[in-house]
Amino acid sequence: MNGEDKTIFEQGLSRLKKPVLPLVNMVQFLYLTGPFETIEDVLKRLTKSVTLEGVLYEKPQQMLSPYAAFLKEFEVIKGKKKLSANLPFIVNEKDEPVAKRQALELWIKQQILSQELETVNSMFCGPCGCVLCCTGPNSEFDAASGFKGKMRHEFFEIPLADREVDLFALPRIDTDESRIKTAQSDPPLQLDDDPFYKHEMALYHWKNGWSLILPGGSVCPGLSVDTKKCMVYADRPQVCRKPQIFAYILEKTADTAKHSDGTLIPVYMARNKVLAVWDCPYVRKFQDEIGAFAEMGGLEPVFKKSKT
Ligand code: SF4
Ligand code: SF4
Repeated sequence: MNGEDKTIFEQGLSRLKKPVLPLVNMVQFLYLTGPFETIEDVLKRLTKSVTLEGVLYEKPQQMLSPYAAFLKEFEVIKGKKKLSANLPFIVNEKDEPVAKRQALELWIKQQILSQELETVNSMFCGPCGCVLCCTGPNSEFDAASGFKGKMRHEFFEIPLADREVDLFALPRIDTDESRIKTAQSDPPLQLDDDPFYKHEMALYHWKNGWSLILPGGSVCPGLSVDTKKCMVYADRPQVCRKPQIFAYILEKTADTAKHSDGTLIPVYMARNKVLAVWDCPYVRKFQDEIGAFAEMGGLEPVFKKSKT
């Protein structure tokens, strides 16, 4: 890492060096083994710095405060709170159900880590000056990402919620044919005897909702070509807010399970990993730091290619 990297990524790197999960583990331990009625009682006691895994946390209480609502879920264990209706059914990698307390712990940590990584990723993405997530395959901007190798996709898809469609002034394809397919259907939707992705960039209404299709060489209309910045940043689609370092403590499966009241709930598989997408330049640059971040939280770091 050179001096410039150290400066522009300082904020993100300092967050990677102090993951929140060791603090969460400490709070969980104190709550379960101590005379505390509520999580707030534990948090109130954390007024001094603590050293965990060789790392000094100067202000543990302050650092944990954005996650207090998630931590409160631990109160279920002492009967101070009802089990959240959002808690999914969780199985291990052998497809066996995990015990309720462990399921609760995994669920809480997945949510805390997701929130933490959303912040961490935004600290890295901006200074990178890369727009890989905003362009179709093999666009002129790929060189800026530092990614070497040929993209093998024909197009990239940016799924959109209904309210996000109006962000883009583009042609809309909303036909009986598009509505019975998805962007991944094989054979693909045909337009004028060609696959849809051979046409210009457009908004498509599929069986599973709307998406913006970026064919090869295209650039999202939300991206300013001059500044390389998103012009709809404050309103950008949810999918554009998703990080390239993911919490992968749990993975959603396609299965559902029956709740005691008869409702169907999603099934998640325990993975206990942090997943980082290799295409992203800051993931490649800070592989060691991301690995150490994951391991401090007791998780396995996994690096995988996604867009290529
Ligand atoms: S909306 Fe903004 S963040 Fe999302 S792909 Fe377009 S330019 Fe990128
Ligand atoms: S690949 Fe990484 S750095 Fe590039 S735009 Fe996506 S999140 Fe940002």
